[in-house]
Amino acid sequence: MKKPRKLVFSTNNEHKLEEVKAILEPYYQILSLKDIGDDTDIPETGETLEDNALIKANYLWDTYHTNCFADDTGLEVEALNNAPGVYSARYAGEQKSSTDNVAKLLKELEGIENRNAQFRTVIALIIDGKKYVFEGKIKGVITTSARGNSGFGYDPVFQPEGYDKTFAELTLADKNEISHRARAVEQLALFLRK
Ligand code: IMP
Repeated sequence: MKKPRKLVFSTNNEHKLEEVKAILEPYYQILSLKDIGDDTDIPETGETLEDNALIKANYLWDTYHTNCFADDTGLEVEALNNAPGVYSARYAGEQKSSTDNVAKLLKELEGIENRNAQFRTVIALIIDGKKYVFEGKIKGVITTSARGNSGFGYDPVFQPEGYDKTFAELTLADKNEISHRARAVEQLALFLRK
């Protein structure tokens, strides 16, 4: 495998891009879809996080033949049989916002004592047409109300194990020490450095 210096990240989510760049740069130049002038919203039609990560990475490989990676993340809540999982982005409906998703989650968990959950990120990497998959997880609990203003998505209601703050109350650097995506990206970085 020839080691790439440049990787396209199949995302236009600025938060994800910032998190991933903080870990991978300056070793690799990370470009987003926007950076390569592509504003495609790739449909996430897979039934697993792995499927969706591969769909997003395959799109880049098939279209541009460029070395690339993509991630997909799900919030898996124990008392909800691991929902919303692969449907985390559309939990409250196709056109709904993260605030709506968070509100729905809090409502579903009303009166439920078991608040255990985990974030799971799967990254699909394609180098010279070869595909590799990496995973990162973090366990925690869903709080009873939203707290904090940083981060995105479900961050205001996810409190990682061993912390008394939600992800949205942590700095980006602190979130990146422990987060699901950071752990998956670290696996990716280890592989690339081998
Ligand atoms: P996707 O990986 O962009 O498909 O994300 C699926 C859903 O999980 C979306 O609703 C995101 O907002 C949410 N999500 C992804 N990563 C994170 C994270 O690091 N913190 C909180 N929510 C996240």
